[in-house]
Amino acid sequence: MRLSRYFLPTLKETPAEAQIVSHRLMLRAGMVRQASAGIYSWLPLGFRVLKKIENIVHEEMAAAGAQAVLMPTLQLADLWRESGRYDAYGPEMLRITDRHDREMLYGPTNEEQITQIVRDDIRSYRDLPKNLYHIQWKFRDEIRPRFGVMRGREFLMKDGYSFDLDFESAKRSYNSMFVAYLRTYARIGLKAIPMRADSGPIGGDLSHEFVILADTGESAVFADKALLAMDPPSDTIDFEADLEPIMQKWTSLYSATDEKHDPANCPVPAEDLVEARGIEVGHIFYFGTNYSEPLGCAVTMPDGEKRFVHGGSYGIGVSRLAGAIIEASHDDAGIIWPDAVAPFDVGLINLKSGDDACDTVANDLDAKLSTAGVEVLHDDRDERAGVKFADMDLIGLPWQLTVGPRGVKSGMVELKRRAGGEKQELSIDSALSQILDKRA
Ligand code: ATP
Ligand code: MG
Repeated sequence: MRLSRYFLPTLKETPAEAQIVSHRLMLRAGMVRQASAGIYSWLPLGFRVLKKIENIVHEEMAAAGAQAVLMPTLQLADLWRESGRYDAYGPEMLRITDRHDREMLYGPTNEEQITQIVRDDIRSYRDLPKNLYHIQWKFRDEIRPRFGVMRGREFLMKDGYSFDLDFESAKRSYNSMFVAYLRTYARIGLKAIPMRADSGPIGGDLSHEFVILADTGESAVFADKALLAMDPPSDTIDFEADLEPIMQKWTSLYSATDEKHDPANCPVPAEDLVEARGIEVGHIFYFGTNYSEPLGCAVTMPDGEKRFVHGGSYGIGVSRLAGAIIEASHDDAGIIWPDAVAPFDVGLINLKSGDDACDTVANDLDAKLSTAGVEVLHDDRDERAGVKFADMDLIGLPWQLTVGPRGVKSGMVELKRRAGGEKQELSIDSALSQILDKRA
């Protein structure tokens, strides 16, 4: 992709309205623009990151046996009256009336909608278990939308729902999502820590939040320092196997958000307890028959008995993650994208656009890398070197490959790793093979 044609409105000045670094950098790097309070447009660079995160979520959900669907953003108020949440949800719910005076709402979550789908089309115990999810925009009229996409009013969430015959089976579904979440965050390049959490107004007892440690996090978190040192489960997990041992390993070490933490009863000695700020990037819980009973979601057992299904829900804040990754990975010059979610792999800088020798080398590198499947953002603009380097550091692509008039004479280019900042003078071919090898 040629930067001269790309829509990348970077800003030199720090936007005054942004209080935290991820919000500042997302605006400065031209990733998002605010449409109204807590509602954002995603520009090309930001949208690419969002899609990368989504893809990882889709792949890990598939590995764990969950199936993607897509439910609408607008839902009928009557469905939420059945569960009793239409009134209970309060002012966070955006309520809408259509031209026929039917009351609708912009979904803040989809327990009711998915339960209706399962209720209407699943009748027999033989059809369970099922695990369905979607990645869809949600609306919550947050009282204080802030920190950019981290606490928006409209935001993108992956929300999944499991349906099982009994607690034992529901626990297996819960465990598979627990493990899938650990893997998802690790693949994104984040260390997310599962924390015992309050299951909130939805009720239920099994509940974990996944939290990334960052100074700007909205909640106080407490954890055994041994938990912070643990490595995520390998990518060869067999999701058909019993995952309880992995679950035990991760949940036997103490961790809790401030809502659940009780200093008087904390089992961890003070010297082993880490107290920090955290960003919640996911939340999973088991809620039994809390929705299936009021909504009448039951299956017929072999003996003819009707049984309400046992449910769980599993959320990941997809758009919040874009900000959370930046909170976890940046420096004074800008964003440092983890490879897996970087909007492009390589920023190719032509220091002297219009110079025949430089253009030839840069265009050739662009073509070779692109053919090999490497995503290249090629800065072919007629700009000063300082502007090009500053923009490239700001947008944080993992590799910077610089073609300049001096090096080109002797067939040399410069390769810089954004994280760490090491620079190497290399022949064109070895620069190419380094980038290709690192990706393999
Ligand atoms: P919070 O405590 O941050 O308000 P929540 O408990 O209301 O979160 P859930 O209903 O569990 O959130 O939603 C699942 C995930 O969606 C959260 O873990 C979070 O990552 C994300 N999320 C929730 N609210 C927002 C929001 N206003 N903006 C962006 N992401 C959000
Ligand atoms: Mg909330």
